[in-house]
Amino acid sequence: MTTQRRVLIETMQEAKEHLDVSSLLALARKREPGIDRATVYRTIEKLKKFGLVDELDLMHMNGEKHYYEVKPKRDHVHLACLQCGQVEEFSSPLFEQLKREITEQTGFEILVTRLEVGGRCSVCRNSNKR
Ligand SMILES: [Zn+2]
Ligand SMILES: [Zn+2]
Repeated sequence: MTTQRRVLIETMQEAKEHLDVSSLLALARKREPGIDRATVYRTIEKLKKFGLVDELDLMHMNGEKHYYEVKPKRDHVHLACLQCGQVEEFSSPLFEQLKREITEQTGFEILVTRLEVGGRCSVCRNSNKR
């Protein structure tokens, strides 16, 4: 693995949020000042191909921006608040069960799953009530 790939993966793993290309670039540069935008795009494409990184659009809350995260061991649902932009992650054994059911009933082998849900987070719901 090249230094650039390692730097990008480490940056994504340590970030508390899902990063778009600009924020990924800014954080990666702190570790490896030589990285530029083209490198980030190129490296992300490779990491996606290898199945190491997931690409999310998070309900297009910020237009056509895409967000990236290192592929988690367990798939999780992204709960995107359309009001404040907060993204929560939720995982459940039921999700794994659903994937098994899909494979059992259709014979379809699932390689990639992406589940994004848009709505209002608990904080926004509570503040709207007042
Ligand atoms: Zn919210
Ligand atoms: Zn996530």
